[in-house]
Amino acid sequence: MRVIDSHVHLENHDPAKALAMADDFGYERFALMAIPCYTDPLNTLECLLAKRAAPERIYAFGGMVYTPGTPANGRDHEKQLELMMQAGCDGFKILESKPSVYRRLQLPLDGDVFDRAFALAQAEQIPITWHAGDPATFWDAKTAPEFAVRHNWLCVGEGFPSLARLYGEVENVFARYPRLCASMAHLYFTSDDRAHAERMLDQYENFWLDLTPGSEMYHAFLADRDGWKAFFDKYQDKLVFGTDMVDAEGDVVFGSQQTIVDFVLNTLCDDKPFSIGGVSGTGLGLAPAVQQKILAGNFERRAGTPNPISASGLNAYAEYLMPRLTKEDQRRAEALL
Ligand SMILES: [Zn+2]
Repeated sequence: MRVIDSHVHLENHDPAKALAMADDFGYERFALMAIPCYTDPLNTLECLLAKRAAPERIYAFGGMVYTPGTPANGRDHEKQLELMMQAGCDGFKILESKPSVYRRLQLPLDGDVFDRAFALAQAEQIPITWHAGDPATFWDAKTAPEFAVRHNWLCVGEGFPSLARLYGEVENVFARYPRLCASMAHLYFTSDDRAHAERMLDQYENFWLDLTPGSEMYHAFLADRDGWKAFFDKYQDKLVFGTDMVDAEGDVVFGSQQTIVDFVLNTLCDDKPFSIGGVSGTGLGLAPAVQQKILAGNFERRAGTPNPISASGLNAYAEYLMPRLTKEDQRRAEALL
């Protein structure tokens, strides 16, 4: 079975490690999701340049850079997206509606700052991977899982948006741009409300879901095998495989990246009882043709083959970023290029 991991991050500036892990996991290709945000302004550049090692195997989705002293605005977002795509990006990664990020930026996704970028993304049918929300349990210390409390992932405190607000903003964006090609990360956190996922999937032709854990999703799948199997069969053309793999072996929730891959593939593909990472269940046993769409075909249909990087595009993107980077990041950028 061909496998494309649609949801991978470079956290440690080590694309060679990501590539070696992809080889170990038997991935034909994988997609790097850049999340420069306000902490790592060169992350999009690094994801793009990772393609040099294996241009036919690596996709890069660019993310917006936020820097102190440069207020976010619609023209800048549009320009960043345009330059990232010209440099060889394959899509647009949005993390701004993850509650912890939203809390910091306070930028409504249905507001002016994102509007031009969404217009461009719809016009050009740019694939988007969009993290909106978090598991509903994270909004209350009493219901949140232990690992979420331990890692300070609770959405409790001043400045956090409610989950309803985040969902509302997504719906406003889709109402305005109904042909947007967005794959909502982590099942859009709807494993506790399948009807919600179905409503959005039915309403918008290019609204997709990625199956990157969220452990809670997989617990839900295993707890209602028949219900979810029917869901996977019905929406087999709009679901994409992902794992949140990073360029390091460990994982704070599952212990290791290998455990995540095993857990996801056993849940979706096998129909036998298994016990992995402390979780026991019986796989859903999706039909091979459905598996192949979810594991590779759907993502490929949307993103095509990886775009080549463009030297002039890279330079134009880097030049645009330079004035807002610290001296140290400017030196790093030059060394990367
Ligand atoms: Zn992710």
